[in-house]
Amino acid sequence: MTNEAQWQHITAQLPLWLAKSRSEAQHGRPASYIPELAHAPADALGAVILSADGRKLEAGDSSYVFTLQSISKVFTLLLALMDQGEERVFRKVGMEPTGDDFNSMLKLELVEPGIPFNPLINAGAITVTSLIAGQTPTERTSRVLAFFRELTGDPALTYNETVYASEKATAHRNRSLAYFLKDNDVLDADVEETLDVYFKHCSIEADCSHLARLALVLALNGKDPHTGRELVPRRYVQIAKSFMITCGMYNASGEFAIQVGLPAKSGVAGGILALVPGRYGIGVVGPALNDKGNSVAGVHLLRTMSEAMDWSIF
Ligand code: GLN
Repeated sequence: MTNEAQWQHITAQLPLWLAKSRSEAQHGRPASYIPELAHAPADALGAVILSADGRKLEAGDSSYVFTLQSISKVFTLLLALMDQGEERVFRKVGMEPTGDDFNSMLKLELVEPGIPFNPLINAGAITVTSLIAGQTPTERTSRVLAFFRELTGDPALTYNETVYASEKATAHRNRSLAYFLKDNDVLDADVEETLDVYFKHCSIEADCSHLARLALVLALNGKDPHTGRELVPRRYVQIAKSFMITCGMYNASGEFAIQVGLPAKSGVAGGILALVPGRYGIGVVGPALNDKGNSVAGVHLLRTMSEAMDWSIF
């Protein structure tokens, strides 16, 4: 199929694929361990696809606004790499999938050295957040927000105060992970200050268009889709995409690689960012999650699209 024929096909099929996937939401539930996320509409499902040649397609609840949660971890990793370089970042965090839940602390004590296995599990992402340059937590948060605004082209992007406060008040597990990292000398920065920046970047509000735009920048190896300017060095995007394949869907990353075959990152508010290298940036949201913390309907939709369009990179 030519690019044009592909686009015509996706345009015709997306509403049908979405309608079929929406009913899958009944097999999941919105996250509730962050109390504010429990109010999300369980059967919402939206998608946006942006093409490298500037076209946009949207379907379903594509303007539903949610928080990035773990999707933000890909970009805080990029920022930390841009601030510190590869060598310093990977002194503090590993490069391997865990096979455990995203908020597990099991392996931190089981294996030596006690650095987190990868930057996309919570322990790794909290460590990465501590590596973002800035004199104060406020400055670090501002730099994260500025980075997201630059990548999305949306100067109004910001975090949701209510979700942030909800997570901060209930984050006993993340707090224990962070204190453990501090005790192991993995975290050099102050625990509460680091967590504050982490909760804020997890609470950044976005819709499917924002996700698709972030995904398209990665699909274009760090280039601005409009101007072609380099926003992120290609090498760092390569690192981020490798982690998305091996760890992006938590401990369901292997299954997702087989069934969908695209670099992707999910968040517990139901968002999934996925990309077709060089061609498409995709944003999907469906708040009902499976037991691994991934959007049930969102994964179903990505699988349907990838199979129909033969998008798997493998
Ligand atoms: N803020 C969430 C947490 O730390 C992010 C987790 C996620 O999306 N998997 O628990």
